[in-house]
Amino acid sequence: MNVHDSERMAGLLAADGYVPVEQVPEAAARATEAGDGGADVVVINTCSVRENAANRLFGNLGQLASVKKNRPDMQIAVGGCLAQQMRADIVKKAPFVDVVFGTHNIDVLPVLLKRARHNRDAAVEIEESLKVFPSTLPKKADSSYAAWVSISVGCNNTCTFCIVPHLRGKERDRRPGEVLAEIEAVVSEGAVEVTLLGQNVNSYGVSFGERDAFAKLLRAAGNIEGLERLRFTSPHPAAFSDDVIRAMAETPTVMPSLHMPLQSGSDRILRMMRRSYRRAKFEGILERVRELIPDAAITTDIIVGFPGETEEDFQQTLEVVEKARFASAFTFLYSPRPGTPAADMEDQVPDDVAAERYKRLLALQEKISFEEMQKLEGTTVEVLIAETEGRKDLATRRISGRARDNRLVHVGLPAGFEYGRDIRPGDMVTAVVTHAAPHHLVADSGVTGGLFSHRKTRAGDMWAEKQACPVPDNKVTLGIPIIRR
Ligand code: SF4
Repeated sequence: MNVHDSERMAGLLAADGYVPVEQVPEAAARATEAGDGGADVVVINTCSVRENAANRLFGNLGQLASVKKNRPDMQIAVGGCLAQQMRADIVKKAPFVDVVFGTHNIDVLPVLLKRARHNRDAAVEIEESLKVFPSTLPKKADSSYAAWVSISVGCNNTCTFCIVPHLRGKERDRRPGEVLAEIEAVVSEGAVEVTLLGQNVNSYGVSFGERDAFAKLLRAAGNIEGLERLRFTSPHPAAFSDDVIRAMAETPTVMPSLHMPLQSGSDRILRMMRRSYRRAKFEGILERVRELIPDAAITTDIIVGFPGETEEDFQQTLEVVEKARFASAFTFLYSPRPGTPAADMEDQVPDDVAAERYKRLLALQEKISFEEMQKLEGTTVEVLIAETEGRKDLATRRISGRARDNRLVHVGLPAGFEYGRDIRPGDMVTAVVTHAAPHHLVADSGVTGGLFSHRKTRAGDMWAEKQACPVPDNKVTLGIPIIRR
């Protein structure tokens, strides 16, 4: 969600005449180690889901303070979840900050910068609820082949460890017609992969009272001409219904990957987390997904050391992990977020106990991830070539990207093929997996004369066009751009 918001911020600034600092060599030349890049305006988009967001923000601001001393006209803006939470306190702690804006009013960023410049005083503006749906704002995306499309913002759940509902508000859904129009638009701009984005995608439709709206949206989006890969994040086990699984299985463009947050394998802890599903329901979802989409890679999120978690609770998490065979897991050591109910719960798990459990969980999941990867040796993968992932592979003549199940694959280039010339980011390559590692696959079949096929895509053509003509890089697409035929 934050990456998507950053695209919007960059788009708003570009539409207002700002230029990325990399395109202004005389500015870039004065860059310091503070990370200012020599820019006239630095925007920090904060995220308070991760630990230490405040420490990191004020650490960065501390470094920028010395830059601002030498260049007083440089403006610093702070947005995102932490800004929504701390509001004017940010300026109290760091009086040299020029602009503070929240998660509900990204659209005012250019105006606040102007106001702060004019008044020579900090401009702080936070809204309590969303006024403008972020997807209707201009956007400046880095990737030409993959796009985020937001279907909802906010969340109606009340998980006791999570600060999101407090900072992003109640769920607001975009109408399906608008979502589909934006997908058509980004596809016409060259995207071959779209990820539908929401805090809780499968409750989509709740705000306009339509049941099964997410499954219907998947089917409709999956039929859009030119779209090759459709993904979504994140679902919630409580409302993940069979019609969504069927829509995934029956829509060829919906990719066989699913991120399904477990958080804990213990029903007692799930109750304390106020997660409304139980272990049996979670395991049932996985069973049905595997039945209908056998090649699906399922990933998850797990929190270790939630207040009150006993060794017995933790054992239940290990049991689910053992059984579920997740392709990978984002594992988190519980840490309290001020303002959440769990932060005030008694019975916080001592750090050393939580850390020891975390180590055991990680070791188990690493073993499973590796075993699952090894099962793929000898299989054929279709890889959407990326621009930024695993760039160092170029030295070893490998290109990188994601397989249909979202696994990272490094593909060996046969002699005569060049990255950027013959195979561009956004193109598709098919090869055989020759080697598995815990977190990636290597597909070198083409290097030894085996399978290697390459398909040019419109996304690759767009990338090549952009390289040949880099100036229009400042191009901004408006929320719902006109479809190019
Ligand atoms: S479902 Fe729970 S964890 Fe996810 S955003 Fe909503 S409150 Fe947070």
